[in-house]
Amino acid sequence: TSNQIAIKAAVTREKGGAFQLEDMTLRAPREDEVLVRIVATGMCHTDLIVRDQLYPVPLPAVLGHEGAGVVEAVGPAVHSLEVGDHVVLSYAHCGDCRPCDAGYASYCDEFFARNFSGAGPDGQQALRDASGQPVHDHFFGQSSFATYALSRENNAVRVSREAPLELLGPLGCGIQTGAGAVINTLGVTPGSRFCAFGAGAVGLSAVMAARVAGATTIIAVDMIDSRLELALALGATHVINAGKESVVERVRELSDGGVNFALESTGRPEVLRQGVDALGGLGVLGVVGAPALGTEAAFDVNDLLLGGKSIRGIVEGDSVARRFIPQLVELHMQGRFPFDRLVKFYDFADIEQAAADSEKGITLKPVLRLS
Ligand code: NAD
Ligand code: ZN
Repeated sequence: TSNQIAIKAAVTREKGGAFQLEDMTLRAPREDEVLVRIVATGMCHTDLIVRDQLYPVPLPAVLGHEGAGVVEAVGPAVHSLEVGDHVVLSYAHCGDCRPCDAGYASYCDEFFARNFSGAGPDGQQALRDASGQPVHDHFFGQSSFATYALSRENNAVRVSREAPLELLGPLGCGIQTGAGAVINTLGVTPGSRFCAFGAGAVGLSAVMAARVAGATTIIAVDMIDSRLELALALGATHVINAGKESVVERVRELSDGGVNFALESTGRPEVLRQGVDALGGLGVLGVVGAPALGTEAAFDVNDLLLGGKSIRGIVEGDSVARRFIPQLVELHMQGRFPFDRLVKFYDFADIEQAAADSEKGITLKPVLRLS
């Protein structure tokens, strides 16, 4: 086989610019890399904040980090995956540092470099555009806004062939983030009170997971009524429109003085403050919403101290993707985690429409079909 694979990819050439489909070439897998034919890939808010350069991935770049597909070729050192396996691609991690050893790969010492530097661990790109110029890649260890992507063996998660592959890509980021925050990090308990600040793809995944975990008060807060209606259908017991109601007061009222667990997924510092204020004694606020680098937030120190409250930053729901994603697939196949209700499919050629619909709040989780 040739060393270069002809692919089609959506490239972001400038800050805030359009995703443009171009013919490109990708080199063949080496060592522990796998080549994946992308069947479908989700679009996450993080793709858009990188396009807009709130996170400084160098451009031009191919983004996309919720890929699902079929293994087409494997490097010589790959032993746990085979050609034909169905895989969901998740975040990159080195696999050798202390956090990785401890089972917390989303806090890998090299997390930023491996996921956001626009190059592989060797500092090189595997992608070339039609004029032969390198294009930044390895975004989240995949760059899956493309018909083919290169990943490493350790971030390609094999999934059941019974599962609907074209739906599964978002499990690799946004959905495992919300669900993992609730199940892995916060450890939401049966009978507890939980509030999701933000009912986007991440927040609604948290709502579904809180129901699986047995929380009996599940509150969702957002500004978009259609999202709040969906939250109720997915297991929320109460919803609050932040544009119309006084959020903290209302949460405290609905939760008998404050929630045990909360998750901030709006990326807004003033909402993070509301999250801390709405906790009851010993409550924990998980923070997953990502504002621009350098953003600061305020909270009342004595309220935190006297209430025994905690604030915990969370990357990718603390999930060990190879264990957690198959669990979410199983819950989905049992009808207990209906994340398909967040998804709307688009043809790859309509990627700009998908981005626009996501930003307008029309679509919760766009998934692009590639093959
Ligand atoms: P999203 O845009 O679908 O969801 C955000 C929601 O917040 C929207 O529904 C919006 O209406 C709502 N919102 C905005 N202002 C609000 C306010 N004042 N009060 C209440 N709700 C408000 O995005 P998403 O895909 O769900 O991602 C959520 C965030 O999580 C993004 O910042 C994304 O970058 C981040 N993220 C983080 C991780 C991680 O590992 N930490 C992983 C994936 C995504
Ligand atoms: Zn993401």
